[in-house]
Amino acid sequence: MDLYRCDDFVVNDTKLGLVQKVREHLQNLENSAFTSDRHRKRKLLENSSLNSKLLKVNGSTTALCATGLRNLGNTCFMNAILQSLSNIQQFCCYFKELPAVELRNGKTAGRRTYHTRSQGDNNVSLVEEFRKTLCALWQGSQTAFSPESLFYVVWKIMPNFRGYQQQDAHEFMRYLLDHLHLELQGGFNGVSRSVILQESSNLSASNKCCINGASTVVTAIFGGILQNEVNCLICGTESRKFDPFLDLSLDIPSQFRNKRTKNQESGPMCTLRDCLRSFTDLEELDETELYMCHKCKKKQKSTKKFWIQKLPKVLCLHLKRFHWTAYLRNKVDTYVEFPLRGLDMKCYLLEPENSGPESCLYDLVAVVVHHGSGVGSGHYTAYAAHEGRWFHFNDSTVTLTDEETVGKAKAYILFYVERQAKPGAEKL
Ligand SMILES: [Zn+2]
Repeated sequence: MDLYRCDDFVVNDTKLGLVQKVREHLQNLENSAFTSDRHRKRKLLENSSLNSKLLKVNGSTTALCATGLRNLGNTCFMNAILQSLSNIQQFCCYFKELPAVELRNGKTAGRRTYHTRSQGDNNVSLVEEFRKTLCALWQGSQTAFSPESLFYVVWKIMPNFRGYQQQDAHEFMRYLLDHLHLELQGGFNGVSRSVILQESSNLSASNKCCINGASTVVTAIFGGILQNEVNCLICGTESRKFDPFLDLSLDIPSQFRNKRTKNQESGPMCTLRDCLRSFTDLEELDETELYMCHKCKKKQKSTKKFWIQKLPKVLCLHLKRFHWTAYLRNKVDTYVEFPLRGLDMKCYLLEPENSGPESCLYDLVAVVVHHGSGVGSGHYTAYAAHEGRWFHFNDSTVTLTDEETVGKAKAYILFYVERQAKPGAEKL
């Protein structure tokens, strides 16, 4: 397990000391970050935490501008998600182009503005810290960035991620996207939604997908729609419901759950297609999940089927590797084969005839991997493609890698980007 130990801290042996240290650090941040620091030049903030670790690219340090993220005590689950999101260009560019926070306080005539969320008297902005972190990555001036001011905001608004135990990267991603979405909507302090609506209509007028109201960059990029079709097995009545989604959580089919390696003999290998098929297959619901049929006017046995009604620009697929047994969360360690290029989603679409020849094809851009056995332990890293090359992000260390290595990874979360029908057509 040493190989996958989180880089910067061995948490168990200095837990109390470390908690104290970080608390003091947070206190200091609290005292300074939102007063004097705000008035400092952005550059200063972003360059303040140089790390001595070097970018290793096949043994030599080249001019590649990849930047690692320091581990602040079992924060690899957040780092892996941030590095993945930072390589989703459409998403990342939107944040990088937002004006810095000091530009947003009324002195922005003619500039794009939006309102930051204020939570009680804590004037923190997740969007702003997320923007700063994304700006710090891929700028080439440092080999590792310390995302402490982002994590400070994360810990403040998502207290469930504050502890020092390993946490679930997928759960974190959902919280992060939800909170970014809410803040961009201005939903918390009730400020002008028209600003947001205007912003999102600039994004793509034809691509509205609403989760909790107005569309934002989060829903414009990750939002798709599922059609959930339920049929009463007694009277045959069908009911349909549309469910917006930001990602799909796929089961690894039970017949594959004990297969651990790519080369394990006996039977076929589990593929992403198997997982997608089991997600969209007609399913007879258990006796424990009876459905309230409006025609029969009672709870009945039923079947359920998912169709994809609208595919997102970025398809995020989460493989359900963690399962609860009586008291424990077990990990399914099966290798699942996935395509790096050309994942075809057409057969899961409700009306495939309405989509163009290429709009159902997706190319892989990032993969989050969980190493180790349990959800409360282990380590997260990410692979992501940047300008045609694959990188492995392991906290502060970034290494160049290749497609073959990526293809062998036991994926936990896969990020696929829709292939554009014509290059340059329909830009966000
Ligand atoms: Zn019925």
